[in-house]
Amino acid sequence: MSQCERTSWEFPALPYAYNALEPYIDAQTMEIHHTKHHRAYFDKFYAAIQGTELESLCMKHIFSMVSTLPLAVRNNGGGFFNHKLFWKVMGPNGGGEPQGALAEAINQSFGSFEKFKTLFNEAAANRFGSGWAWLIVKEDGSLAVTSTANQDNPLMDIAEVKGFPILALDVWEHAYYLKYQNRRPEYVSAFWNVVNWSAVTERFEKASQ
Ligand code: MN
Repeated sequence: MSQCERTSWEFPALPYAYNALEPYIDAQTMEIHHTKHHRAYFDKFYAAIQGTELESLCMKHIFSMVSTLPLAVRNNGGGFFNHKLFWKVMGPNGGGEPQGALAEAINQSFGSFEKFKTLFNEAAANRFGSGWAWLIVKEDGSLAVTSTANQDNPLMDIAEVKGFPILALDVWEHAYYLKYQNRRPEYVSAFWNVVNWSAVTERFEKASQ
């Protein structure tokens, strides 16, 4: 696999205020999610790699051989990476539709933006238990909607469908229970109002480089 730069092992700040995604995702959920859940994944991941050869590798490299590593690396490394991506692809003043090359790729792979959304909503709703829904760029450059269990992700060698994730949605109950309780589909539908399509487009461009 290609070389990738070492990631700095720092817990990332949320790129906006805890209440920035209101009313779609409430401030209390965001604060607990970031300072407790995400923080715990980061701390446990770092504890698992500190002083080992993994410390000098980037996440992509670690995920590419995660099946050979301790389960703590898979679960907490996934939790660390997935949430960092999740925060980035949301933001205040989000929503709408992607433009340009990403919009074209979505039309080409799914037929239309609405059809893509339907597939993504289904992936998020049908993920049994805890996990994530993804929009990924596959090796052949096409887009696909997938979902993974727990804190797995499409960069991992154990993923059923592999690819470079450009949009992520956390469907663990901790991501929505305070506001939506058992109504996961309402949370998924609210999510579209906070998607930061410029961030998703940047990742799409990064994937095709
Ligand atoms: Mn989460």
